[in-house]
Amino acid sequence: MKYVDKVLARLKKQNPGEKEFHQAATEILTSLEAVIEKHPEYEKAALLERFVEPERVILFRVPWVDDKGRIQVNKGYRVQFNGAIGPYKGGLRFHPSVNLSIIKFLGLEQILKNSLTGLPIGGGKGGSDFDPKGKSDHEIMVFCQSFMTELFRHIGQDTDVPAGDIGVGAREIGYLFGQYKRLKNEHVGVLTGRGLSYGGSLARKEATGYGLVYITEEAMRARGDSFKGKTVVVSGSGNVAIYACQKALELGGKVVAMSDSNGYVYDPNGIDIETVRDIKEVKRGRIKEYAERVKGSVYTEGCRGIWAIPCEVALPCATQNEINGENARLLVKNGIKYVSEGANMPSDLEAMEVFGKASGVVFLPAKAANAGGVATSALEMAQSSQRLYWSFDEVDAKLKNVMINIYRNIDDAARRYGAEGDYVLGANVAGFEKVAEAMMAHGIV
Ligand code: GLU
Repeated sequence: MKYVDKVLARLKKQNPGEKEFHQAATEILTSLEAVIEKHPEYEKAALLERFVEPERVILFRVPWVDDKGRIQVNKGYRVQFNGAIGPYKGGLRFHPSVNLSIIKFLGLEQILKNSLTGLPIGGGKGGSDFDPKGKSDHEIMVFCQSFMTELFRHIGQDTDVPAGDIGVGAREIGYLFGQYKRLKNEHVGVLTGRGLSYGGSLARKEATGYGLVYITEEAMRARGDSFKGKTVVVSGSGNVAIYACQKALELGGKVVAMSDSNGYVYDPNGIDIETVRDIKEVKRGRIKEYAERVKGSVYTEGCRGIWAIPCEVALPCATQNEINGENARLLVKNGIKYVSEGANMPSDLEAMEVFGKASGVVFLPAKAANAGGVATSALEMAQSSQRLYWSFDEVDAKLKNVMINIYRNIDDAARRYGAEGDYVLGANVAGFEKVAEAMMAHGIV
């Protein structure tokens, strides 16, 4: 049995039922086979066994009192997965689907994503099964305070720096930071995605979506192509989706659809992003309201139908496994040219296989394509340490540079291993090489 297969079999046996974690590990490890063959010393050092085992997993109780005076109890998680190249870094997700498997898959992906940014950040992830939907502002605050009352002892600006993810945006980061500062009496860059008045970075909010479009644009440029006149479908309508849509429109793309967890809107005239921003960022409403407000647009209940809309560029920015094999086949049949993942692991293994086999489809996997968010978080950390602020244009230029470099590195890694254009392999290999080198240098830890 090959080393990679042995490690995968062991992982599945030792972590039963963690299906998302198995999925991410399978995708990553199988594409590392060639690297492993080149480095027999890795097997001797049990490097992969250590790589897939989090350095630390923290599970905790989050009790809080709702507006009716009832006591609620949620689960809290922080997985400090790999700190070889820098402090653990990664978001917090508040969503009812959160469990250890989801946090571990996200954490594992985060290690390689953070490595790809070229910045000194290790991989971590956390969150809770708390559902922010329908909660009052007061309940959100009370929950965040209780969550941080345990988390604060495990994190620190040089140890572990959480940020946002699904269900955790500027408001939640504000409450979490307020409680951390109160408990520690320290005003430091321990969380990123902070508000601009208390240490945040300009362009952090836009960074994941903008970065997604920058790397896609670079892949297009390498092929003498551009966003101009292309039909684009963006799933989701959260932070990543909104700014991906805005940048794609700015570059001349025509975004015709967006969605949320209930359904999607199709607007043949092109999405009016300011209306989406008003619905989502100001009113915290549902995407359905778009069709009530914009003439000529149609709302359809259910999410998967969005992939039946013919388009040349698909930017899945909603959540994991939102594109299955069937959806992928339909996208290919309808002439898809570029798939760039804004969400984490939005294509399931079968969908990835379909895109990989289809000729002429450029597939940019999440850990490369959505790395702009965490890269800008690292830029926020740098500004915090210097106690300085950079301008929007400075941060945006650095972000663009990071994304162009990621494209070049994954393209180069794919070529080096004889798999030109296979960016799944390229991203896994390029991300892993640096982490592996650092882990080997540190000895058996
Ligand atoms: N949650 C984002 C991600 O998946 C951002 C993490 C961060 O900024 O630390 O990469």
